[in-house]
Amino acid sequence: MPDNRLLSQQHMLILGAALFGITCLYSSRNPFNKNKDEDEELDPTDYAARARQILRSTPLIDGHNDFPFLLRQQLKGKIYDHDFLTERLASHSDFKKMREGMMGGQFWSVFVPVPEDLVPGADLNDEGRRRMELNEPNWAVRDTLEQIDLTKRMVAHYPSMFDLCTDPASVRRAHAQGKIASMIGMEGGHQTGNSLGALRLFFEAGVRYMTITHNSDNAFGTCWKSVDLETGKDAGLTNFGQDCIREMNRLGMMVDLSHVSPKTMRDVLKVARAPVICSHSGAYSVNKHLRNVPDDVIRALKQNGGIVMVPAIAPFMNWEHPEEATIEDMIDHILWIAELAGWSHVGLGSDFDGYTEVVKGLEDTSKWPNLIERLLARGNVTDQQARLLVGENLLRVWKDVDRVAETIQKQGELPCEEYWGGRLWEPENMDVPRLFP
Ligand SMILES: [Zn+2]
Repeated sequence: MPDNRLLSQQHMLILGAALFGITCLYSSRNPFNKNKDEDEELDPTDYAARARQILRSTPLIDGHNDFPFLLRQQLKGKIYDHDFLTERLASHSDFKKMREGMMGGQFWSVFVPVPEDLVPGADLNDEGRRRMELNEPNWAVRDTLEQIDLTKRMVAHYPSMFDLCTDPASVRRAHAQGKIASMIGMEGGHQTGNSLGALRLFFEAGVRYMTITHNSDNAFGTCWKSVDLETGKDAGLTNFGQDCIREMNRLGMMVDLSHVSPKTMRDVLKVARAPVICSHSGAYSVNKHLRNVPDDVIRALKQNGGIVMVPAIAPFMNWEHPEEATIEDMIDHILWIAELAGWSHVGLGSDFDGYTEVVKGLEDTSKWPNLIERLLARGNVTDQQARLLVGENLLRVWKDVDRVAETIQKQGELPCEEYWGGRLWEPENMDVPRLFP
């Protein structure tokens, strides 16, 4: 910090003029800045120009990005040794690439692995590795808290890039200011330690969606990996899972159905009081991977008001030939969902930095305009439909979820006190007074 006394009036004037110059330079280069061509009539076949016009006025919100997990695993959460504004990263989500991609909002995943993947010495390639019992002590809650802290520190350390957002209105504000709205999503009920008390505090910490399971069953429900492919056996949502959905609706935390089994999806839709999301899943009919969403669920989402957010992950887009998966496959999934449920029920959820194989044409966060351009070029897609896809649908769902929570809370519904039936409690201490002798 310079000594204030050295800043004479003359210096202040020079400094002011310089800052004004920098601001003007920044504004003219800021891709989010509303240009005078905002409402300009464009040649309908100039798909690139139409894509950029759409992304200037509508925040592109990506439903899922695992960049914070890279910071955890590769930097052990130490971000201050680097300058991500000037250093270029090999990951999908380099900051410069995000700017080039005209991103308006990002749900950062505060994912930590399921407990069985944290067993010391576990071989992650061994499908038959030991499944941990739900009561076994693990670090999932601590590590999730660390990931939330890390994400918030990253957002706070780059205020010119990001703004932490916990409601839809703040996303619009951040976008208008040329910042990338930063939201927190939690990728698995295991991260709560199967506890609704922990879930509530994660909401207080800023988490705005939770994926009900990751790639492992938990006290709430069954994941896609546990479906018996021969018999089709799928245990779906548990009774405690129903309590969890009820509590998430009361809190105003979005329910995410990516990674869960088809029956868990159907069971959730029977009890959900607010729209749900699939933060990073495609359409099962287009590519028969169980991480994708079956047609009956896509149709049910129309009734529920929810959305499927399509990822850039190659095997989810083309299971048989992931090496050949392109942006056109991703568009096939988008068009299929729009055809089945309408343009109000589809969105984008890349899963960037959560997987190495991504589709050709959307290799990293800089390529988002390319996706919109190719989508428009496929024909019969209006600017308004593209706006719904890139962000308006997610913002509508979130607003609905907030509104439902407000109504439930006004009706006086109390926080849910249920706990998982198999829960082991600490021994009672008999040396304290009895509540009810
Ligand atoms: Zn995932």
